[in-house]
Amino acid sequence: MPIQLYNTLTRTKEIFKPLEQKNVRIYSCGPTVYSYAHIGNFRAYIFMDTLRRVLEYNGYNLKHVMNITDVGHLESDADEGEDKMEKAARKENKNPYEIAKYYTDIFFRDMERLNIEKPEIIAKATEHIAEMLEFVQGLIKNGYAYETSKGIYFDISKLDKYPVLSNRKIDEQIAGARVDVDIEKKSPYDFALWIKAPENHIMKWESPWGLSYPGWHIECSAMGKKYLGDQFDIHTGGIDHIPTHHENEIAQSKGLTGKIPAKFWMHVEFLQVDGGKMSKSLGNTYTLDNLQEREIEPLAYKLFCFTAHYRTKLNFTFETALATQKALMRLREGFLKHLEGKENIEEKQIKEYENKFLETINDDLNMPAAMGIVWEIVRNNSKSKQLANLLLKFDKVLGLDLENSKKYLDESKKVELPEEIKELIEKRKKARENKDWALSDEIRDILKQKGYIIKDSKEGMLVEKA
Ligand code: AMP
Ligand code: ZN
Repeated sequence: MPIQLYNTLTRTKEIFKPLEQKNVRIYSCGPTVYSYAHIGNFRAYIFMDTLRRVLEYNGYNLKHVMNITDVGHLESDADEGEDKMEKAARKENKNPYEIAKYYTDIFFRDMERLNIEKPEIIAKATEHIAEMLEFVQGLIKNGYAYETSKGIYFDISKLDKYPVLSNRKIDEQIAGARVDVDIEKKSPYDFALWIKAPENHIMKWESPWGLSYPGWHIECSAMGKKYLGDQFDIHTGGIDHIPTHHENEIAQSKGLTGKIPAKFWMHVEFLQVDGGKMSKSLGNTYTLDNLQEREIEPLAYKLFCFTAHYRTKLNFTFETALATQKALMRLREGFLKHLEGKENIEEKQIKEYENKFLETINDDLNMPAAMGIVWEIVRNNSKSKQLANLLLKFDKVLGLDLENSKKYLDESKKVELPEEIKELIEKRKKARENKDWALSDEIRDILKQKGYIIKDSKEGMLVEKA
């Protein structure tokens, strides 16, 4: 069954065919490691994970590169302001390399908690300075770049077409009121490839233009080319990358190799919070830890992301996320119910589920529809191990760690009891010793109202959270 993917470059859903038979080469723009990644960022990496898993489910081998931006990402994507890493280092009174290591480690810890597959190659910008320099020198040689007092800039007037990815009407914008202040640039849309470092800049390297550092866009172009060649299959990122970062990556590659580096450009829409933008000033840039404080597991957040197609906005509220946490528990219970089941399901029915699932995931990763099929299986009244196995098979795409369902359910039932509850339990024990069944039942009801369920068994009294 063919896979169809939406390509931002052509603005259509296209049948996906790799450049090289069964091998797919992908590049994903990774995090800028100057701060904790928030749940909006993780929506982008959950999308990246789903794409990987869908391709693998279809039998493809992957060579996937994700970069770590640890230098060169200025405050505005269009080369304005300070380097984000240096700014964070100053604020935290640390070295930018320490900052990078600290946030990179936490990023990968969170990726693991989300059961996101790690790309085959993780490429740090600071470890690819030589490749980037070579790229820039190639652009100068080909006549696509020029030097100013600030650095080396890409000359967009040399391109046959700019922009190619976004719809933005550049001539109108240039003619409009947004006047660029840098008069040394030939066009306001020329962008920095290489930046001459101010005296107090910590991250800087020797170059033909003195101590300097790379621009953000050149990182991805140089690392993509190094590991995946002049052309590869898929490039991913968030929609914010379309108008500047990816547009400029394309410009750079065309300038050096004459080619648009990727065949498919895929972009994930933004996560919103309470119907609006996430922003530090609103205090709503939640991390996975913030969710866990409210008893929402990372995997529940992943499931939450499957409630909307990756190309539509998704609105996060704690209320809906908590509902998804409960849904995840139901999914685990449903899986275990089938795992213990003995009933037989006709092969025809299993095949039908499988085909429907494949059809939906191959339709531009339609996860909400795919989850619809998963829930249908969970709700199937016939308890059957065949259905449990089918869910496990589908979990190769979902990545919800269903095989460990029992462990998660057991853990969730282990509760640290508040003093008040412990006292009520003790009282109930005494009542039972005194054969005061009426009092025992009364206390059980009080506990239930307080959210604790009591089960009397041979081993004694078991307490679970309702
Ligand atoms: P950054 O670390 O800022 O370079 O961003 C990392 C990734 O997160 C990029 O792919 C962004 O497009 C993506 N991103 C940032 N904010 C959001 C959001 N609210 N929703 C979805 N993706 C986002
Ligand atoms: Zn990038």
